[in-house]
Amino acid sequence: MTATVTTDRLTVTTDRLTRVPGLLYGGDWNPEQWPEQVWAEDVKLMAEAGVNLVTVGVFSWARLQPDADSWDFGWLDRLLDLCHRHGVAVDLATATASPPAWLVRAHPDLLPVTADGVRLEFGSRQHYCPSSPAYRGAAVRLTRALAERYRHHPALALWHIHNEYGDHVQECFCPDSAVDFRRWLRERHGGIEELNRSWGTAFWSQRYTSFEQIEPPRTAPGPVNPTQLLDWRRFCSDALLALHRAEKAVLDEVSPGVPVTTNFMSMLKALDYWEWSRHEDLVSDDAYPDPADPRAHVNAAMNYDLMRSLKGGRPWLLMEQAPSAVSWRPVNVPKRPGLYRLWSLQALARGADGVLHFQWRASVAGAEKFHSAMLPHRGTAARGWQETVRFGAELRRLGEIAGSRLRGRAAVLLDWDSWWALELDDHPSARMRWPELLRPWYAALHERGVTVDFVPPTAGLDGYPLVLAPNLYLLDTATADRLTAYVRDGGRLVCGPFSGIADRHDHIHPGGHPGPLRELLGIVVDEHWPIPDGETTAVRLDGTAPDGPRSDGAEPHAEPHGADLRAERWSEWIETEGAETLARYASGTLAGLPAVTRNRLGAGTAWYLSCHLGADTGRVLDLPLAEAGVGAELPDLPADVEATRRHAADGRQYLFLLNHGGVERRVPLDTPGTDLLTGAATGDAVTLAPLGAAVLRLPAAEERP
Ligand SMILES: [Zn+2]
Repeated sequence: MTATVTTDRLTVTTDRLTRVPGLLYGGDWNPEQWPEQVWAEDVKLMAEAGVNLVTVGVFSWARLQPDADSWDFGWLDRLLDLCHRHGVAVDLATATASPPAWLVRAHPDLLPVTADGVRLEFGSRQHYCPSSPAYRGAAVRLTRALAERYRHHPALALWHIHNEYGDHVQECFCPDSAVDFRRWLRERHGGIEELNRSWGTAFWSQRYTSFEQIEPPRTAPGPVNPTQLLDWRRFCSDALLALHRAEKAVLDEVSPGVPVTTNFMSMLKALDYWEWSRHEDLVSDDAYPDPADPRAHVNAAMNYDLMRSLKGGRPWLLMEQAPSAVSWRPVNVPKRPGLYRLWSLQALARGADGVLHFQWRASVAGAEKFHSAMLPHRGTAARGWQETVRFGAELRRLGEIAGSRLRGRAAVLLDWDSWWALELDDHPSARMRWPELLRPWYAALHERGVTVDFVPPTAGLDGYPLVLAPNLYLLDTATADRLTAYVRDGGRLVCGPFSGIADRHDHIHPGGHPGPLRELLGIVVDEHWPIPDGETTAVRLDGTAPDGPRSDGAEPHAEPHGADLRAERWSEWIETEGAETLARYASGTLAGLPAVTRNRLGAGTAWYLSCHLGADTGRVLDLPLAEAGVGAELPDLPADVEATRRHAADGRQYLFLLNHGGVERRVPLDTPGTDLLTGAATGDAVTLAPLGAAVLRLPAAEERP
């Protein structure tokens, strides 16, 4: 058996999967919940649905290890043999997300403790302290036992570490965690005086004379030291990652060559996925857009773009989605007919090479018994089962797209460190939350059909004509220098409000905001001016009142005249220092002051939005998009139609057209192609039914008529 984990094609990450070429289809299978007679029916129905990959054993620790010194692998042996006989590959879980009762009672101190000192009980899942030596030792032992037993099993295609790190327990305040936090702080800061400087402990008499005096940021009388909280966020992500790495090290040692993943949870604040994804062989994601939200597909697109970006554009795997309703919202609306298919295709449209689900067969007991499944409680007569079978057949027609990639036309900067710091308490406004700042920017790009990549602050930006930074509250001078060099060399940067505020210790950059971005943006912020809830401030985008002549003498272009926009949540009293004013505040105290500016620096341009423009953000982003020549994947895209393009190594393209609206849409095409879903050749347009989709194979440029 040879296997490579670095190849572009997810489907050949191990040659065990080459016998199921194409896209991956399947779900979490929890056979330990069923008598073995049911398994035979399961694999028969899997064949009917075209399932080629199942995730097995995610919550089977108590079954695999009934007590500290006994193991029960017989059932899993039979299960993997059954899968192999029926041509179903296995994504085998390490089963460590839910430690069994006997382990918890033997080591009660492995249960996590809240900031208020409450120890969380057994009886749910993820009931472990990330820093518990007892938990880690037991998890690594189980992982090794599984790896040694199944490393050569022919059904094994992928290892699945743990489950949804950080879903329920993201932090623990117990004594073990305190010890681990102090170790982490020593490694980060070196000495206690360095820590005192970093944490600014001269404030409120918080000075420490020894690391032993430091505790996790438990509930305190008032605001806790913000740098302590920021270091805590960093530590908590690292503590969970250390657990993951401990299991990964065992799998790499015992079962080399078999790729390893853990299921991410889309854009999750608690975990720095840039750092985490360095330790994944492939990125996989659990995504549960809400069918009751008519704009849910926009957020889903955003999350899928992040997943694709985490490993530089390599194909990723949708590890979990719901075939229909979930069970954990207050009201769980099912997916209306067609929505499951459309949203599944959307993951593929944004770079996934497979669509998996929670779960294969609906449970009859437990907390998720009302969660939909590929095989619903009603069985094969159910509407859900019919959709499962139909989509499995369609997926087989799309096999050739596996391994093809998207190319973002612009980049969006995402920095978890800045996200954590932005959302600390005692800021000018508690309404400045990263997801809410980002969403209108992303929605504007999505609405305009622009595909974007997410990039970390350390990324090289040269390949992107346009870089968007909705917020960079925390910004070190090295990153600011890189952004400045990018613009000087001809790049175009758009920066959102409340940026360039603090350094990596969350100390204010002195001398006026936006600190190290001041020269790049050509402005200075005199004062932050948050807007109370329910109020807005008018902003007039006129382009007629530049503060000074343009250095290149050219006329401004793509500037709408007299457009009235509404700022919400945030505004700033800014003064220009070389930038031209593109929009001014038109109401309130700031009326007449600059609101949106543009600064030429070297060969490039930097825009600054000093306010949060919500749904009007796109009206401003149109300017830099036009100037950077960044446009839609397809011109003249009708409303509600999402278009993306996957590029194959041989030059072919796959154009995905997804109609998220309730009205039939006609999409004009610049190149005729073949719809892989129907096999039909297209002319100069495609008509999409409500919730309809097309996946067009377009010939390589040199083969086009
Ligand atoms: Zn703990």
